[in-house]
Amino acid sequence: VLSRVKDHGLLHTAGLIGGKWTETASDKGTFEVHNPATGAVLATMPRMRADETRAAIAAAHAVLPQWRHKPAKERAAILRKWHDLILQHQHDIATIMTLECGKPTAEALGEIASGAASVEWFAAEAVRVCGDVLEPHNRDRRMLVIKQPVGVVGAITPWNFPMSMITRKVAPALAAGCTVILKPAELTPLTALALAELAERAGLPDGCLNIVIGDAPAIGHELVSSDTVRKLGFTGSTAVGRLLAAGAGQAVKRISLELGGNAPVIVFGDADLELAAKGIVGSALRNAGQTCICANRVFVHDSVYDKLAEAVVEHTRKLKTGDGLEPGVNVGPLITPAALDKVTGHVTDAVAKGGKLLAGGSKPELPAPLSGGNFFAPTVIGDATIDMRCFKEETFGPLIPLFRFSTDEEAVLLANTTEYGLAAYFYTRDLARAWRVAEELEFGMIGLNEVAITSEVAPFGGVKASGLGREQSKYGLSEFLDVKYVCMGLG
Ligand code: ADP
Repeated sequence: VLSRVKDHGLLHTAGLIGGKWTETASDKGTFEVHNPATGAVLATMPRMRADETRAAIAAAHAVLPQWRHKPAKERAAILRKWHDLILQHQHDIATIMTLECGKPTAEALGEIASGAASVEWFAAEAVRVCGDVLEPHNRDRRMLVIKQPVGVVGAITPWNFPMSMITRKVAPALAAGCTVILKPAELTPLTALALAELAERAGLPDGCLNIVIGDAPAIGHELVSSDTVRKLGFTGSTAVGRLLAAGAGQAVKRISLELGGNAPVIVFGDADLELAAKGIVGSALRNAGQTCICANRVFVHDSVYDKLAEAVVEHTRKLKTGDGLEPGVNVGPLITPAALDKVTGHVTDAVAKGGKLLAGGSKPELPAPLSGGNFFAPTVIGDATIDMRCFKEETFGPLIPLFRFSTDEEAVLLANTTEYGLAAYFYTRDLARAWRVAEELEFGMIGLNEVAITSEVAPFGGVKASGLGREQSKYGLSEFLDVKYVCMGLG
């Protein structure tokens, strides 16, 4: 199936260390990449471990002086070239992405556009790094602040956005003058390797972007404990994030974490119900429900509950589930059989606790070879309650549970009753309520009458167990810069 990719040079089955595509000794073993729509093996990759990670760190360190001292304008030009090449190859990248992560082609193209937009944004930001001249407290000295790249950076990314979680770390790092060791998810390394190929073609010097894949705990440990790596950027589960944060604490290393979410949507009695229903279904079922900002828990005011539920079911039923490569498919497979088990578990639990199955609820009947895929029908559960697993845990699948509420205070309390704090959405036309609720929700990102909130110009990140730091936007670059104060005595 990978033969559908026109530019075969984009297909790599090796890591990238110091500009060399690197296999490992065969006794270290390999791992397979699967197509989640069929279960078929797509590629066999080398299982890299600590040795290769150390070599990649050394390569990133060796080229750091050359890269950081390049004028920002030259670094920006390389990033812009990378951006152009990504867009020129978007159809090939989309094919690779859909094959390894399952998302429909239209969503893959959307992710590529947004990932490329990050690269373009940080190319433009690279030339705008500037320090400060402070008013000194005494005339016999001058006080300056300069901004410098933090140095060698580690990046660990998940499978659900095989490209855009990479570009939002790698582009600002390179823009700031840092060099990078990237560990993409073992489930979706092919997109990452295609991106690295294009970065090389754009003229990125050898060693500025290195890729290691394989034994995640061994690679992660090396990245977090190395004295050379000065910052770690991670997107993934809260469990692994906590582990890395503990290691970074020990090593006193900067870290940004973008972890789980359990996004609420509140639909108030005065909401535009059609807009809300469309937004809820679009958000909850994006990437088959596998994004950290997907609508997870929908709280609906009693007065509009029946109407909203009906509209949500109607929009859900219109969606086509199947192979993401097929035109017209809206919902692809889940990433693994384990992910399928989790969604099935949440649905069974909800129904056992009195939830009403309004749509979906099981694995759809699909012909071979899709019968071997990890599909679950888009599902709506009515009369959901807070004792259900889908209230407490992130489902990460195509499930929309509808809960009832009667007062604003109750809605905000329910929404905030989670360890997570990434994205929250609400629908109202009342201006005072809009301000109040936006301020009261304990989340890093708020969508008011809107679910498409992600953009390269806006800060992405969470509070509470959803993480630390912000990616994208003008805030995203400062994560890769150290502030240095210079006091000049005039004698
Ligand atoms: P998800 O549930 O999204 O797969 P994970 O946190 O398991 O979340 O995975 C996100 C990224 O973290 C992947 O690249 C994965 O390989 C990596 N990872 C998993 N375990 C570790 C670990 N112990 N140390 C470092 N990285 C890890």
